[in-house]
Amino acid sequence: NAKAYDVVVVGSGGAGLAAAIQAHDLGANVVVIEKMSVIGGNTNKASAGMNAAETKFQKLKGIVDSKDLFYQETMIGGKNKNNPELLRYFVENAPDAIDWLDNNGIELSGITTTGGMSIDRTHRPASGAAVGGFLISGLVKNINRRGIEVMLDCNVTEIITENHKVVGVKVTEEDGSIQTIKAKAVIIATGGFSANHEMVEKYRPDLKGFVTTNHKGATGSGIMILEKLGAGTVDMKEIQIHPTVEQTTSYLISESIRGGGAILVSQKGERFVNELNTRDKVSAEIIKLPEHYSYILFDQQIRDENKSVEEYVSQDLTVQADSINELAQKLSIDANTLHKTIERYNHFVNNKQDEDFGRTTGLRHPIDKAPFYAIKIAPGIHHTMGGVTINTETQVLDTEKNVISGVFAAGEVVGGVHGANRIGGNAVADIIIFGMQAGKQATDYIHQ
Ligand code: ADP
Repeated sequence: NAKAYDVVVVGSGGAGLAAAIQAHDLGANVVVIEKMSVIGGNTNKASAGMNAAETKFQKLKGIVDSKDLFYQETMIGGKNKNNPELLRYFVENAPDAIDWLDNNGIELSGITTTGGMSIDRTHRPASGAAVGGFLISGLVKNINRRGIEVMLDCNVTEIITENHKVVGVKVTEEDGSIQTIKAKAVIIATGGFSANHEMVEKYRPDLKGFVTTNHKGATGSGIMILEKLGAGTVDMKEIQIHPTVEQTTSYLISESIRGGGAILVSQKGERFVNELNTRDKVSAEIIKLPEHYSYILFDQQIRDENKSVEEYVSQDLTVQADSINELAQKLSIDANTLHKTIERYNHFVNNKQDEDFGRTTGLRHPIDKAPFYAIKIAPGIHHTMGGVTINTETQVLDTEKNVISGVFAAGEVVGGVHGANRIGGNAVADIIIFGMQAGKQATDYIHQ
């Protein structure tokens, strides 16, 4: 007596929850199946925000932006490897996704920037809270309000087909028992594979030994499930390392701290990069330093403006000092050099021109309000740009680009949107935009 639904959504991150809510609202009977004992996946850990151009929140703040510019900058950041159709769909639908969240009580009206973007278009909670927890708790409220069923501790291992038609999924429960769940359509929203060291090393032997910022569930199982059905993959070698990861805890130090005005200094006490260059470039410069790590340095004003810092302080990740001298001493950096570096940077901020590294964004205010803070960081494995192939209707494509009917995918499990390098703030946009689309397309499919 198997349970039966119209649409099974595999994975309870941002993509899965957005898909489930959309499918429900369009009239489908939906279930979300999650292998971990908590909801939210890696989305819970998202920090910076959600990129979108030409939104109502930008207009309210007088920020002039264009979808075309957003497209171009994402394409440049992705080294022109992004799938043009998917990227076009993404930039065109981003403002609607911001509005959809807002209409569902999830307001992202604070705006900052991330590396590789020339305009403030990273939408975040106005309170300064990290976007991930805020988003998941908001989506869960919507799931609950609608009475959408969520099964936790249930690992989906297979999509079952009969005569090339999807009929359900196979699930292994926590106690090891196996059950079949019937479905007319399946949405795979299982996230990336950054936490699967074997898989990462298979594609990128050079990343052996790197820490990962991801939750344990980021194992790439969705890719394997879909490959069994014949799905194609793209860009599997494109694995992003995030430049600012605290190494003892694998804690990601949000890009929004740099967007808010923080700098990076070497053990010598010098800046060495445009801190808001794309993640691959900033990471490469840190790895090039003789010490292979760096300090992210900021002041009380930046702390006041970004709630994430409270978490870093409470986790004991920050070194705090009442003066630059004291900070230099605590970090064993030459105090003179650090003074000069900060003075010079402050001068750049006042002139809005970084003569050393050409930083043009996040030059918010001088670093001069005590206390001062530093966190020792180095790169860590953060995001897998590659994944299964889809079209703009989120239909999964086989290796010949034919549609695998009844099977949809959205979020990090998919490849192509981000090309060779994901821009900060584009993953949250990706999961909501394509999650919504998957929910809609799966529902249209079952109503055909
Ligand atoms: P996205 O950002 O693309 O939404 P997330 O990492 O936030 O991705 O969410 C993906 C979710 O899918 C995670 O919670 C993960 O534990 C879950 N998941 C991964 N593989 C499976 C699977 N085989 N069965 C059920 N859930 C899975």
